[in-house]
Amino acid sequence: MPPAPESLERPDRATIEAWLRESDDAALEPLWQRADRVRHLHVGDAVHLRGLVEISNHCVRQCLYCGIRGCAADVTRYRMSAGEILACAREAARLGYGTLVMQSGEDPGLTEAFVADLVGAVKAETGLAVTLSLGERCDGELRAWKAAGADRYLLRFETSDPALYRRIHPNLPGTVSDRLAQLRRMRDMGYEIGSGVMVGIPGQTWDILAGDIEVFRDLDIDMIGVGPFLPSPRTPLGGGHADDYAAPPDEQVPNDELTTLKVVALTRLVCPCANLPSTTALATIDPARGRELGLMRGANIVMPNVTPPQYRVLYEIYPGKACIHETAQVCRGCMERRILSIGRRLGTGPGGRGRV
Ligand code: SAM
Repeated sequence: MPPAPESLERPDRATIEAWLRESDDAALEPLWQRADRVRHLHVGDAVHLRGLVEISNHCVRQCLYCGIRGCAADVTRYRMSAGEILACAREAARLGYGTLVMQSGEDPGLTEAFVADLVGAVKAETGLAVTLSLGERCDGELRAWKAAGADRYLLRFETSDPALYRRIHPNLPGTVSDRLAQLRRMRDMGYEIGSGVMVGIPGQTWDILAGDIEVFRDLDIDMIGVGPFLPSPRTPLGGGHADDYAAPPDEQVPNDELTTLKVVALTRLVCPCANLPSTTALATIDPARGRELGLMRGANIVMPNVTPPQYRVLYEIYPGKACIHETAQVCRGCMERRILSIGRRLGTGPGGRGRV
């Protein structure tokens, strides 16, 4: 029996799981329609563009899923200079983006002072909203960056299941990783908080994924990114032994487009006012229609890449990443065409959550 359309009103965990497991085209139609309507009513038809610059691929973590994990020996490491990053910020402003997202591996070489000065300079020169996504950092650093003008911080909690989290995201020696706690603290510091998960990570069950969506609702997260897990051959989860990590076949979530779109749609229903990107990972598994389908199933954000091409190819968290060889200008034109082709319009301004 497919789940009843009325169950989409305020779905509990069991209902979310039932919708996640549903794969019949006709049965899914009410989910798609409702997610698109809720998106239209709560965040409108504008699609906001965030310029993404990948400022460093150094990383001290050993995440089992990530192609730039610290011990991946065949990665050429880079860290952009402040001047190079500022040039990307100017380019993002010139292209009409309202936000600059600075992302990196977890890199202590990006010191508190370097990032604070950089945030101040980007704000002063461009007036763009600034999102940081630099991994797990201490409260002193996070406060200093907020004081320097950072608006948002993006930190995916990856999975809400403690055992799976410990397995795929090992602690650093002498520390305990707790991303949910960091998200709560950053909210108290005044950041808009962004988070999210990968869909289909080996060991992720339907029940765990339904629990992730409940956590999005419970934490009332401002921006939620979900994309398919894409195996990197440089990692334990992407190499020959990936099956050792998988849940039993009837419980393991597939890392496919349809499941990702269901997660986007259900996330829109439980977090009607959140900003939801149509992710690069979705565009990677479906280069022809992935971006558009994400936007049609609940998303309202895209993140075109403004990283200089010579660095972009080195920020290879998974192979075959969409848009990897495009210039920022070409990427913008392509995004605009895709947005207009589905009857949506380009957003202007920072496009924040706008809590009242
Ligand atoms: N170091 C920061 C952090 O950990 O939050 C930001 C960079 S990290 C590479 C950004 C995100 O990429 C992660 O939160 C993870 O969800 C995603 N990611 C990493 N490896 C991936 C893979 N193999 N497939 C899909 N997404 C992946």
